[in-house]
Amino acid sequence: MPIATVNPATGETLKTFDELTPDGIERRVAAADAAFREYRRTTFADRARLLDRAAGLLEADQDDIARTMTTEMGKPLTAARAEAAKCVKAMRWYAANAERLLADERPPDDDVRDAGAAHARVHYRPLGPVLAVMPWNFPLWQVVRFAAPALMAGNVGLLKHASNVPRTALYLEDLFRRAGYPEGCFQTLLVGSRAVEGILRDDRVAAATLTGSEPAGRSVAAIAGDEIKKTVLELGGSDPYVVMPSADVERAAEVAVTARAQNNGQSCIAAKRFIVHTDVFDAFTERFTAGMAALTVGDPMDESTDVGPLASEAGRDGLRELVDDAVRQGATVLCGGGRPGNLPRGMEHGWFYEPTVLSGITPGMRIHREETFGPVATLYRVADLDEAVKVANDTYFGLSSNVWTRDDEDVRRFVRDLEAGGVFVNGMTASHPALPFGGVKRSGYGRELSGHGIKEFCNATTVWQA
Ligand code: NAP
Repeated sequence: MPIATVNPATGETLKTFDELTPDGIERRVAAADAAFREYRRTTFADRARLLDRAAGLLEADQDDIARTMTTEMGKPLTAARAEAAKCVKAMRWYAANAERLLADERPPDDDVRDAGAAHARVHYRPLGPVLAVMPWNFPLWQVVRFAAPALMAGNVGLLKHASNVPRTALYLEDLFRRAGYPEGCFQTLLVGSRAVEGILRDDRVAAATLTGSEPAGRSVAAIAGDEIKKTVLELGGSDPYVVMPSADVERAAEVAVTARAQNNGQSCIAAKRFIVHTDVFDAFTERFTAGMAALTVGDPMDESTDVGPLASEAGRDGLRELVDDAVRQGATVLCGGGRPGNLPRGMEHGWFYEPTVLSGITPGMRIHREETFGPVATLYRVADLDEAVKVANDTYFGLSSNVWTRDDEDVRRFVRDLEAGGVFVNGMTASHPALPFGGVKRSGYGRELSGHGIKEFCNATTVWQA
């Protein structure tokens, strides 16, 4: 894929970028290595000052960078602004909390006396330059989610961003430079995915984090495994959204629309499979379908737009094929199912897809197994909680999950049995700096955010003292 800014609302290529040459990559990896040797010795207070400054700059740039993101990947401008604000919040949170999260841990002296120690502690040290391979769907947030904790821990970052968001990638490098980070602490590598292996195998690169698809995760994990390097993988999701009879069905249906259509439906933690108890299936389906059908599809720069175009033509075609396959095999289209009419002038060739709800899903359909990365929801009718859990877990993915119920016993069962990195009760999944984020099964491993996230790229060093 060429490195380029292509407006998904029109299909127009606005700018192409040259890839870094091997020499250019070498210079940047060397700069990261040199920067780490100094930066690792800075105090938490030094690092917090830098990160707070970056947060302030980002806050001031919020509108401009939001427009850049919308131009590059098509999310509604209002959502892009909210994404920038969320990044500011996370940066400030890590600036304020990293020292506490990485404080030395001291087991009770009595516990270590028979190890011959007068006392012992665990001290968290940074690992070194970390390669971050990132996706386009939250082009600012995915990077900040990695960079804020990594930089506060004393690591330095090398960003290989998705090839369709180069302006956002370059903005991030510039942001950290303007904030005063020493040269080499955070660099963007404008390279395609073929260059990742060489960078990852470089001895000066300590670890890698990848947010993206399963094939990309598998490739990076295999190379990192071969090199015995730590990885965190945040991969795809097909999150269940379960509605039980005791739920506030009206509210569940209203939130379901946002949970599915947020970010033009291209969110790893979007609710994708709606698993509804038979007692409330009709009531939920009617409200949810009406809500999806009422969404405004159009120009993502327009403040009143709910759903913009998909980020790429291939993504739009892939989604269409999943829906067409399901319909061929007997699924019922309750709303949507194709290209929206009445697109704004000049956007007739944009990569739009209607908000779509399908029922009558059977296990043989591709859509039952594969991630729908766009505004397409699948509905399942279940007879009881056991069947709800069975359907919810009938996926390779295990990122997050949503359950709607006012019954405490239901909650206990879901928390015990759902195979996912999160269970959100009576609400939709959202990431938050203070809460760990990540999945199980083919959604990946490791955690981002919170204390769990910042420790992923730390050397938990045992200090034993006689
Ligand atoms: P993608 O194709 O995997 O791309 C993600 C990143 O990986 C890009 O920088 C891409 O570079 C790179 N890449 C692709 N193939 C690679 C390979 N073989 N080796 C090394 N790097 C490779 O994913 P996407 O289509 O951009 O993003 C959508 C996917 O990301 C969905 O599955 C979504 O669920 C997942 N996602 C997960 C999370 C999470 O937190 N769990 C969050 C957001 C998205 P190029 O652009 O140059 O190809």
